[in-house]
Amino acid sequence: MKTLKIAIDGPAGAGKSSIAKEVASELGFIYVDTGALYRTVALYASRFDNRESFLRKLEHCDVELKYLGGTQRVFLDGEDVTDEIRTSEISMRSSEISALPEVRAYLSEKQREIARENNVIMDGRDIGTVVLPDADLKVYLTASVEERASRRYLELEGKQDAPTYEQILEDIRQRDYQDTHRKVSPLKQAKDAVLLDTTTMGFHEVCKALEDLIEERLELE
Ligand code: C5P
Repeated sequence: MKTLKIAIDGPAGAGKSSIAKEVASELGFIYVDTGALYRTVALYASRFDNRESFLRKLEHCDVELKYLGGTQRVFLDGEDVTDEIRTSEISMRSSEISALPEVRAYLSEKQREIARENNVIMDGRDIGTVVLPDADLKVYLTASVEERASRRYLELEGKQDAPTYEQILEDIRQRDYQDTHRKVSPLKQAKDAVLLDTTTMGFHEVCKALEDLIEERLELE
């Protein structure tokens, strides 16, 4: 059976995951947050002294996505690490290890496997360009770097050890640079992707815009 594939790419903090999650649950599709896979491999890498020993053991990195009550949880060696991978240290490390071709090949195949078996909305950096070049709809979701930093700041405000706005802005700038300049599968808009700049749009407005695009493209009711 042919499955339906929607690819959403864009820089850090553009709102991809919250938008994709919401729209996927309305459509009854599986939402695949591929960033969580890179983050989990970054956590795995932190257990090794050097890159060579990490890469030698990459095939043993047992990373798995499970869907509990419609919500994605990510497991490393059977342990739920969904919350543990959300630190700014793991954000930076994931951006570093994601430049390694071995890591990209390993995780891209896992992502394709999920898309072969389920209707998916998959978000990441290279979904429309590399992982699912035949996706039924490709969207490039972005917003100005200041707006993305300010959204992240509001999300984390009040939490323990919450970073300052300036720290977040700097982290996002650095990740943007690393993600767009790496040699393998850099972040870029696929030629056939629809650009959605959400700088001045609210959450519901963006969900509606995405739903309209999906309806139009897939002729869903
Ligand atoms: O999406 P998220 O910010 O959680 O992703 C963490 C990091 O993983 C990104 O900065 C990026 O370097 C990497 N990533 C990637 N390709 C993807 C998804 C994430 O390189 N498809």
